[in-house]
Amino acid sequence: MVTIIHDLSANENAYAPLPSVMGVVAGAGERSHRYPDRFSKELTAELAERLAVPAEHLVLGVGSVGLIQQFVRATAGPGEQVAYGWPSFEAYPHLTGTAGAEAVHVPLRAHTFDLEALAGAVTERTKLVFVCNPNNPTGTVVHRAELERFLDAVPERVTVVLDEAYREFVRDAEVPDGLDFYRERPNVAVLRTFSKAYGLAGLRIGYAVAQEKLAAAVRAQGTPFGVNAPAQAAAVASLAAERELLERVELLVKERGRLVAGLRAGGWEVPETEANFLYLPIGSRAEEFGAACAAVGVGVRVFPREGVRVTVGTPEATDLVLSAAAGLQG
Ligand code: PMP
Repeated sequence: MVTIIHDLSANENAYAPLPSVMGVVAGAGERSHRYPDRFSKELTAELAERLAVPAEHLVLGVGSVGLIQQFVRATAGPGEQVAYGWPSFEAYPHLTGTAGAEAVHVPLRAHTFDLEALAGAVTERTKLVFVCNPNNPTGTVVHRAELERFLDAVPERVTVVLDEAYREFVRDAEVPDGLDFYRERPNVAVLRTFSKAYGLAGLRIGYAVAQEKLAAAVRAQGTPFGVNAPAQAAAVASLAAERELLERVELLVKERGRLVAGLRAGGWEVPETEANFLYLPIGSRAEEFGAACAAVGVGVRVFPREGVRVTVGTPEATDLVLSAAAGLQG
């Protein structure tokens, strides 16, 4: 068996934290006998300033997945529904289920969230809707005008979470900044994370932005002291080093272009992606593709009988994926 050298299965950042970030993590570790700042004051103040939002509109969480759990718990329970396009992020059904609510899956159209169908799926019992933009696992996006129409169509009693975990990788100018919507709409929240572009997946820290009432309800569902001190310190340090980190994002975006172009040139269908991963809707050939990648030391995410998701990594990883794909017929 060949060992996996490049793990491209979890949409992580290929690059290790910057030395400046590792330094503050180590420093925070030395104070591990103390509780973290329960209110993450420094990070909250920094984010509030950068995003130009009031601090009361920010909720920090144990990764954005922790916030997804808090949104579900704050809004939906037994007999109530949570709706989203499908396939999408696997935590949506899981955390809907653990809250005892019912998951409503609205099939994607051309690998993309079908917002008309999603609006049409809202019932009296719908409490929460997720719009994953870009969508995991397909990488596809919805545009400003269609999202605006969707938000106009969904009643205000329904909470809409715009999950923007991959926002920093978006280069399509038609993709809106969710923050432009939340300001006008008390039922709309935006979800972001330090796990992807900022490369802090292992530390577990993300944030939500919502107007005060919704933010307070979501905050109330958090585990007290859940956001640990090294994570808070690393996030602050990452914002300070943002320029350098976003240069790495730029490298990954370039690499994404090369990987997509290489696969398409080999005859593979690749939906347009704006994330740090791409999706191959290859159905029954998913396992075969996954095995070919594993054989060259690359781990990818296989969705049996549906497709394969490949995270964009280093140039070396791109070359290996392209060589594995070339060994199969596109
Ligand atoms: N949203 C989406 C769409 C994701 O793909 C992920 C991670 N795979 C998350 C949220 C959660 O990320 P984290 O908890 O690391 O912030």
